[in-house]
Amino acid sequence: GDVRAPSLEIREISKHFRGVKALNEISFTVAPGAIHGVVGPNGSGKTTLFNVISGLYKATAGQVLVDGQIVSGATSYQLSHLGIARTFQNLRLFGDMTVRENILVALDRTRIRWIWRYALWQPGVWKRDRDLRARADALLTRFGLTDYADTTPGSLPYGIQRRIEIARAMASEPRILLLDEPAAGLNGEEVRQLSEIVRSIRDRGVTVVVIEHNMGFVMTLCARVTVLASGRIIADGTPAEVVATPAVIEAYLGD
Ligand code: ADP
Repeated sequence: GDVRAPSLEIREISKHFRGVKALNEISFTVAPGAIHGVVGPNGSGKTTLFNVISGLYKATAGQVLVDGQIVSGATSYQLSHLGIARTFQNLRLFGDMTVRENILVALDRTRIRWIWRYALWQPGVWKRDRDLRARADALLTRFGLTDYADTTPGSLPYGIQRRIEIARAMASEPRILLLDEPAAGLNGEEVRQLSEIVRSIRDRGVTVVVIEHNMGFVMTLCARVTVLASGRIIADGTPAEVVATPAVIEAYLGD
C-alpha cells in the first residue's frame, strides 16, 4: 500500500453500435484510491463503459485517462500492462483446472511470451516456475482460498468462485480494478465478505470501479456513484445524493 493509487478520468466517451447509441458523451472522474460505483437499469451502458475502459471496445469518441495520461486507443493487452484489470459479469474460470491452476494461468500470461523469446531450455524458466507457484500461493492466502487450492471451481459455492475471479484479476498487480457485478448471486454473508475484500484491495493502493445492481452493497461500499440511464449520466455524487435525485428514482421505477 505505499504506491499511490491512480485517478481515472472518463472524458466525453461515446460508443455507438450502428444504430444503438450505447454511451453518449459520458464524463466523470474517479479519485485516486476511491471505490466508485456505476449503477443504472439494464441496457443503460454500464458493461459497454467497462469494455471501453478495458480496451475491448474502441470508443466512438472521447478519451480515458489514467493519472492524466490518455490510455484509450491502447489494446486490452497493453491496458493490462498499464495496470487496468477487470472481472466479467459471467464467471470466466477454467472448470477443468484447479483453483491454483486458474491463478497460475493468470500469472503465466507474461511468461508465455517470454518463453517464445528465449526458448525453453534456459535454466531460468524452472526458477520462474517456482516463483510463479509462490506468487499463486500468496494470492490464494491473501484471498482466503488456500483450502480450495486443489479443487476445481465448479464444485465450490458461488461466493468462493467470485473470489477466485477477483484473485485472478489481481494476479497482474493492477492499479485500477474494474468489477462487473461482483455481488450478483451472492448471499448476505458473501456480500459482506466481498465488501471487505474490495476494501482491502483499495487499501493497498488500487482504484476500484464497480458495476452493481445490489444497491445496499453500492451504498455502503462506494464513496461516489455514477448513475447511467440510456447511455447518459443522470446523477453523479455520493450515494445519499444520487438516491435523492428524482431522475434516479424515475429510472429505477421504470426498470
Ligand atoms: P448494461 O450493462 O447497463 O446492461 P450494456 O452496456 O450491456 O448495458 O448495453 C447498452 C446498450 O448497448 C444496449 O442497448 C445494448 O443492446 C447495446 N450493446 C452493447 N453491446 C453491444 C454490441 N456489441 N453490439 C451492439 N449493441 C450492443
